[in-house]
Amino acid sequence: MKKKVAIVGWRGMVGSVLMQRMREENDFEGLDLTFFSTSQAGQPGPAIASGAGPLVDAFDIEALATHDAVVTCQGGDYTKEVHPRLRAQGWDGYWIDAASALRMEDNSVIVLDPVNRDVIDRALDQGIKDFIGGNCTVSLMLMAVHGLIQQGWVEWITAMTYQSASGAGAAQMKELVVQMAQIGAAAGGAAADAQAPVLEVESTVSELLRSADLQITQFGAPLAASLIPWIDRAMENGQTREEWKGQAELNKMLSLDPLLPVDGQCVRVGAMRCHSQGLTIKLKRDVPLTDIEAAIRKSNDWVRLVPNTKEATLQQLTPAAISGQLDIGIGRLRKMTLGDDYLTAFTVGDQLLWGAAEPVRRALNIVLGR
Ligand code: NAP
Repeated sequence: MKKKVAIVGWRGMVGSVLMQRMREENDFEGLDLTFFSTSQAGQPGPAIASGAGPLVDAFDIEALATHDAVVTCQGGDYTKEVHPRLRAQGWDGYWIDAASALRMEDNSVIVLDPVNRDVIDRALDQGIKDFIGGNCTVSLMLMAVHGLIQQGWVEWITAMTYQSASGAGAAQMKELVVQMAQIGAAAGGAAADAQAPVLEVESTVSELLRSADLQITQFGAPLAASLIPWIDRAMENGQTREEWKGQAELNKMLSLDPLLPVDGQCVRVGAMRCHSQGLTIKLKRDVPLTDIEAAIRKSNDWVRLVPNTKEATLQQLTPAAISGQLDIGIGRLRKMTLGDDYLTAFTVGDQLLWGAAEPVRRALNIVLGR
């Protein structure tokens, strides 16, 4: 009999990428699908899967409970409201979620199967039913450097991040483009004029960035032609929550003991949907660079080692080059002048794919045994 799968949050940003990937991989085939909505119950569902009826109310616990699995990209508030009610009435199906709400719960697993398939399989054997996608930055870092952690070579990691607008949400992504358009309108003509003094162009842009005319409703500060070194809310120790997730989620994801220390600064930049990270990796010993490259190359099918040359870096290791692809770029790899046990690397990955939708898509297939 076909497995019954409920899909919630399919029309949001992460949900749309999930639908796109499921279609590309023919995942809808062989499933009995119901699409839910928190706001559009009764309206026609997506035209992506044959046989799916109109949208069902996503708060209808009875309806959700008839499914073998619920996949949600709806958000943390929805998870907090619906998941406990569903479990309280005895539903023991699989809950697969892109939101962070359940990530650190004892009876959940953070899914990223190319790096933690063993943890997922063990959890399935133990009867765990909640499988949660990880923080985008953590997942993208692990896709790039898990090969080194797996070898037992890593003492600690710092990540300085360059995170895209998409990680903040759809409205923020649009606001970035609006800011770019405003800057273009104010200074584009002079910038294109080779004879115009550059400092006039610069001062026009700087004035706009500091004026009340620039749209900053979503970000609260200019992002275009600037950056924002703060993501998510403050923690008591001075970290932001995004920075806190680095160590907390990475260690839970890999089920590490003793803990691998991870810390850094998380920064929003004007990229559209790729997160980049400048990593400093303290090695436990002086591992030759050729061994490091080999371990990275063989760690999964998506990691792409980019030679440490200007030409290769400009062509292959930028958000512009990697956006929309499952490839995880890692380059600028070298031993640091700090010592031969200090490695630096730069990684780029699409935060809507491996950072959000892809681990969730693959988790559904794994828990359903497909
Ligand atoms: P989103 O785009 O805001 O979509 C969430 C929901 O908003 C939709 O499912 C839809 O629900 C509703 N909605 C209202 N108006 C809409 C419109 N005009 N177009 C589309 N949907 C609309 O949220 P998201 O960025 O995909 O994030 C979903 C969850 O994934 C969050 O928990 C987030 O933290 C997590 N996550 C996000 C990222 C990321 O990069 N953004 C990465 C990892 C995890 P109804 O159909 O029920 O109205």
